Amino acid sequence: MTKTLISIGAWALLGWIIGAWLGVSTGWAVFSLGLLAMVLTSGLQLSRIARWVKDIDQPPPPSVGPWDEILAPIYRKLRKDKQEIDHLNHHVDGIMLAAEALPDGALTLDDSMQLTWCNQMASDHIGLNLEKDRSHSILNILRAPEFARYAQQETWPAPLLLHLNTDDQDKTLLVQLTRYGVGQYLLVTRDVTQVEKLETTRKDFVANVSHELRTPLTVLSGFLETLRDMPPESFSEEQKHRYHTLMLEQAHRMQAIVADLLTLSTLESSPGAQGESVRMSQVIHTALQQSRVLSNDQHVFVEHITEDLCVTGSATELASAISNLLTNAIRYTPKDGTITVSWYLTEDGHACYSVQDTGIGIASQDIPRLTERFYRVDRGRSRATGGTGLGLAITKHVAMRHNAELRIQSRFGAGSLFSLVFPPARVASSE
Ligand code: ADP
Repeated sequence: MTKTLISIGAWALLGWIIGAWLGVSTGWAVFSLGLLAMVLTSGLQLSRIARWVKDIDQPPPPSVGPWDEILAPIYRKLRKDKQEIDHLNHHVDGIMLAAEALPDGALTLDDSMQLTWCNQMASDHIGLNLEKDRSHSILNILRAPEFARYAQQETWPAPLLLHLNTDDQDKTLLVQLTRYGVGQYLLVTRDVTQVEKLETTRKDFVANVSHELRTPLTVLSGFLETLRDMPPESFSEEQKHRYHTLMLEQAHRMQAIVADLLTLSTLESSPGAQGESVRMSQVIHTALQQSRVLSNDQHVFVEHITEDLCVTGSATELASAISNLLTNAIRYTPKDGTITVSWYLTEDGHACYSVQDTGIGIASQDIPRLTERFYRVDRGRSRATGGTGLGLAITKHVAMRHNAELRIQSRFGAGSLFSLVFPPARVASSE
């Protein structure tokens, strides 16, 4: 403003001097021309400013006369505000990325429990689509009566275990509601399907072990009570011998169960089997010798064993898997049946140990369950032959630890073929 007044004053002074020298009209003409030049310059400056306003992120145009003083602080303020907004945006982006990286699902709800935002994990857990479901009530999205009851509580001190079926998949979620800010809600979801399955498996396992040990213990204590309560002379020598034999049988059964359980737990708790190069033919021959004793010449054995084919792994574990399959073949093959044991390299470089029998076979619906702990097709027959119901579970574990596959082919009444197939990476030949 001061500059403008000074300029007008300067032109007026110049007009007055020239007016005094060359005449009044010339003075006025000079003054008018001066004012016109000022107006034109100002118009030019304003149009440059108008152009700058359209792209306000750029520095203001230079030399815009009196506007310089106004534009410089505006531009400084604009830059400061922009830096602050950028900083805040960066912060918000960081928070959003952190929310996306959460291992749990997170949903925010407004005061009427309508969905405002959720991370990808929550979408996966609940099977929702943020675009479509935004502004819908969570009670309509999560249509489970127990969740509706939970959401209507005043406070949520404990999470809720919710069983859902999304995309044809059964899921168990742990959900927890929390109030935050002013009338807003945060819903956190955690997928505990696996944890729940493990818990069920653990409970089943404990129940199975107790059940398996209860029978021999009952028999054993029954005999012991009889022997304690009856006078010794009331038993004949033959009776005593029979009782002792039966008690010993039950004790052996419990020993076998406990030994298999220990093997399983060792397999589960130790790291994978890297180990040494195992000459499998030697291990198979040893297992065959023991099997012939078990078979008591009741079966015909056929052997196709490649001598110098080795696998890398644990000799003890492999020996246990090899003899489990052989023992089963003997147990479930009636007298005069044939048991064929093979150890060979396949055309595609895998090594295969297989035991084929002409025994009782297994119905197709039982095959997928054979490797479950304590699963037996015929409980009575398994027990009668000293089975624990854990042999195939152990074999499958050993296979997994050697990156091998346990394959089972069988037809009820027509015999079975159990194979352990080792990948080429585990195969070696002995020098
Ligand atoms: P078990 O100690 O009872 O033999 P396993 O885990 O070794 O336990 O086997 C589980 C079940 O699989 C057995 O109880 C039996 O019913 C069935 N099975 C295993 N091997 C054979 C086989 N060679 N022929 C027929 N059934 C078999």
